[in-house]
Amino acid sequence: MSDCLFCKIAAGEIPANKVYEDDDFLAFHDIRPKAEVHFLIIPKAHVASLADCGPEHEAMLGRLLALAPRLAREQGIGAGFQTRIHTGVAGGQEVFHLHLHVLGNRP
Ligand code: 5GP
Repeated sequence: MSDCLFCKIAAGEIPANKVYEDDDFLAFHDIRPKAEVHFLIIPKAHVASLADCGPEHEAMLGRLLALAPRLAREQGIGAGFQTRIHTGVAGGQEVFHLHLHVLGNRP
């Protein structure tokens, strides 16, 4: 989507401090971190929110979730971390491109 902030980050049009990238996913540090380590994992393909996901997104959601512990380990928070998905305005979502927050403090 042309007016989506995270699509622009995924396309390299807006810079981000990247943690990980493959053909389908990108992870980058949150611009306003709420923990010592705070990064976001996004699918590159635009999906507005978890509420917009259906059966066709199950494989993507599984891969998204499975990336969290791997990247958390790489970022030094593998011993313990939090994951969050804000969904909808009432759920605190500000950026309407699906993203998984991963937060933790280094031991
Ligand atoms: P949510 O939509 O789940 O409430 O949170 C969106 C998150 O994206 C926030 O934690 C916010 O700090 C982060 N964010 C918003 N704009 C940018 C940006 O331009 N770059 C990066 N790296 N993070 C952003």
